[in-house]
Amino acid sequence: MSDAPSIYPIRLYGDPVLRRKARPLAHTDTLELPGFGPQNLRQVADTMLETMFEARGVGLAAPQVGLGVRMFVAVEYEDDEEENEGQETPLKSRVLREFVMLNPRLSVIDKKKVRSETEGCLSIPDIYEEGVPRARAVRLDYTDLDGRMQSVEAEDYLARVFQHEFDHLEGKLFIDYLPQDTVNEYRGALLAMQRQAKQHLDRLRHQAADGHRHERL
Ligand SMILES: [Zn+2]
Repeated sequence: MSDAPSIYPIRLYGDPVLRRKARPLAHTDTLELPGFGPQNLRQVADTMLETMFEARGVGLAAPQVGLGVRMFVAVEYEDDEEENEGQETPLKSRVLREFVMLNPRLSVIDKKKVRSETEGCLSIPDIYEEGVPRARAVRLDYTDLDGRMQSVEAEDYLARVFQHEFDHLEGKLFIDYLPQDTVNEYRGALLAMQRQAKQHLDRLRHQAADGHRHERL
């Protein structure tokens, strides 16, 4: 419990936490994850960012690590043409802007929907699809880790990332927007994720039970 692990396990499709509406939080809150002990939000945000970099993602919402709170992290990377040649390029070196948002409110600036960008999700690995309609430009008003109100406007890809992460706080996933036929094509993969999600939850339940047994000794 003393030295906090550097990354969180990512919750997979089928885990009920991904379908729950997350609750608001205060920047002074302390959160507790099974096996991690109490962490302040700065520690949680740092660990979420590490988890996201490790998984080569562009955003990660608290429910994806089992926390039902309205918080997400997201990153804007610099557009590096050479990026594709080496998958090992440390992502952190290409970060332009890093966002940690508490209680974000999302407003649409440009309603024109764009559906062509490919979208994926760290909680639904290996499924990437086009056809998720996202507003072209949005504004987010949120609280930062110091408790200050912030506002940011985003277009195109970053706007898509923000909308995707915001959806997680509402219990919504990108595959919800896809035609049923497309989702059906992934039925096998989704069932496998559901099984894995259940195993992870079973393990956590056992760990919790073991923990209580030790406490009683
Ligand atoms: Zn996602």
